[in-house]
Order: sequence, then structure tokens, then C-alpha cells
Amino acid sequence: APRQDSPLYALLEQAAAYYRQQLRHHAQKRRAVDYLKQRGLTGQIAKLYDIGFAPPGWDNLMNHLSKDSTEVKALIEAGLVVENPDSGKRYDRFRDRIIFPIRDSRGRTLGFGGRVLGDDKPKYLNSPETPVYHKGRELYGLFEARQQNRQLDDVLVVEGYMDVIALAQHGVTNAVATLGTATSEEHLKRLFRIVNTVVFCFDGDKAGRQAAWRALNSCLPVLEDGRHVRFMFLPEGQDPDTLIRSEGQDAFRARMAQQAQALTDYMFRHLSEEANPNTLEGKAHLATLALPLIEQIPGSMLKRLLRQSLEKLTGMDLDSLPPPPPPPAATD
Ligand code: ATP
Ligand code: MN
Ligand code: MN
Ligand code: MN
Repeated sequence: APRQDSPLYALLEQAAAYYRQQLRHHAQKRRAVDYLKQRGLTGQIAKLYDIGFAPPGWDNLMNHLSKDSTEVKALIEAGLVVENPDSGKRYDRFRDRIIFPIRDSRGRTLGFGGRVLGDDKPKYLNSPETPVYHKGRELYGLFEARQQNRQLDDVLVVEGYMDVIALAQHGVTNAVATLGTATSEEHLKRLFRIVNTVVFCFDGDKAGRQAAWRALNSCLPVLEDGRHVRFMFLPEGQDPDTLIRSEGQDAFRARMAQQAQALTDYMFRHLSEEANPNTLEGKAHLATLALPLIEQIPGSMLKRLLRQSLEKLTGMDLDSLPPPPPPPAATD
């Protein structure tokens, strides 16, 4: 667990204040403000998510926040300054980028994401793991979602910063993002302490569909009875940002209500693509794939119902299965 009193918190807060200030007063702020406007964001939503601007240049933040080498060391520890291991040269990590502060559930800034204003690569830079920032634990936008909702009933898990913010801009204020890392069991445990329903809504592309299947696997061990997980698959080439901007909040919500699939439906549908349940061989394969997944579920009611479903699909009495065979003896 991060040390509650880590001096990095104050430093990260000062950095957030600096980037916020630059968006309002830097000589080149126009480029950043225009970029945000062009993406459909208002000043009000930029303020709510505390969006900032890291100006061009190698040492703006370093000069602003450090007077001596001890302070530069802290900036390096906070992930704000990078030290080249060969030359020893030090420079600001975030340069000429839109800045998204990543905050914990109490609103403390833990790190940042930075996006280029154009099409340069890499498109996004994120803070590295630090003593206070652990990617497998934090969810971007959770603090802001709780700020905007007295009571959260469900949470939408999306891929990116701009998805979270564009959704909020259009009135869908309960989205959080995993930011390029896989959805972990720890993310889900955290979410299920707050809500009973989690809906995944990843990008309509190959990476998004792969992330969804991995997310399903992370969900199984925390799927107590009474917890619900759904999966929303977007049209090819769309992400929540582009979709809600083109069709608006009402159509987006209607789409979610009509098209989001229950985890169990998605699971059988996905496995049936690999194992055709219309042949005996396929049924056998399906049972082989599905059983180890079902067994991970702690919710005993759901587990029992899923076993029944699998029995219907395969025509097999699962309770009559012999225990799994011991691993084969090594041969040469
Ligand atoms: P935008 O809409 O701003 O163009 P996006 O959020 O749709 O970007 P994706 O390519 O869908 O971008 O990626 C989803 C998320 O994955 C990003 O928001 C970011 O957190 C992370 N990500 C994407 N590209 C990179 C990268 N090159 N390095 C680190 N993280 C990245
Ligand atoms: Mn994508
Ligand atoms: Mn995307
Ligand atoms: Mn996008």
C-alpha cells in the first residue's frame, strides 16, 4: 500500500496545478484549447477533469518545481522527470501534450496521462509505476464519477481518457478507464465494493474485443451472486467517444440497454465460435473449455445455473464426469 504521507502527493499536486495554469496562461495555450474544443469539450468539463497543458520544451516543469538536486530526485521518483541512464541527462516526461491527471478515490493526484495535440507518436504517454501509482489498481475517472453521482448504481468501463471525458460531456457520468492496461481482478474488486453492475464498453476493434475476453476472465473469480457484468460491443471502428459524439446520449443509452450482453451469454457465444455445439466433437470441446471457467465463479447459484446451461448445450450430465485425469507421466 502507498505510504499515506508520501511527499510525492504534494509534488504531484503542484505539477497538476502547473499544467492547469499553463492551459490558461501559456503563450501557446490557444493550440491546446483549440484541440480540446475540436474534440467537443467545454471549459466546464475540462475543469471537472482538471485537464492541463504541458508546454513545449525540455525542462519547464523541472525548472518550476525544483531548486536543487534533491528536488529533481523527487520529480524523477514521481515519474515527472526522466533521467537518461546513459547520458544522465534529465528532462520533463510530458512535453507539448494535453495533460490528464489520474486521481485516486480521494482525489489525490497519482500520475498523469499526456496526449499529443496532433498525430505524432506515441499518441499517449502515461506516468510509470511509482511508489504512489499502481496501474493495476487505479481506475481513471472513478473519483470524478463519484463527484458527479451521489449514488452510483453501475459503472461503465472504457479504454481511454477521452472516452471517459466525452461520455461525461454528453451526460454519461459513470465511466472509468483502465488506460491501456488489462482490467485486473483488483480493479473489479474495487468496483464491486461501490456498485453491483459493471458494463464493459471497449473499442470496436480487434484490440477492444481481445480486451473484453480478457476482462471476462478477470471477472470470473469475483462473480458473487448478485453481481452483474455486461459487455457492450461497438460497431467496427467506433469507440465510446466517437459514438456518443455522433449519436448523442439518448441513442447511446438505448444502444446499451438493447445490446449489452450478459457475461454468461457472451461467454457461451464466444466459446461456441471455437467449439461448434452442433457436433459431438464440438460439444466435447465446448465442455472442456467452459468447465474450467465456470468452476472459477464463487457465486454458487450462478455456477449451478451455468452448469445446467452447459448440460443443455451439450446433452451431457456433468455430475457423471469422472474427476479430471492426473497429468500424464513424463516420457522420453
Ligand atoms: P484518442 O481518441 O485520443 O485518439 P483513444 O483513447 O481512442 O485516443 P486508443 O488507441 O483507443 O486511444 O487507446 C486507448 C487507451 O490506451 C488510451 O486512452 C491510452 O490510455 C492508452 N494508450 C493508447 N496508446 C498508447 C500509447 N502509445 N502508450 C501508452 N498508452 C496508450
Ligand atoms: Mn482502440
Ligand atoms: Mn479508442
Ligand atoms: Mn478515441
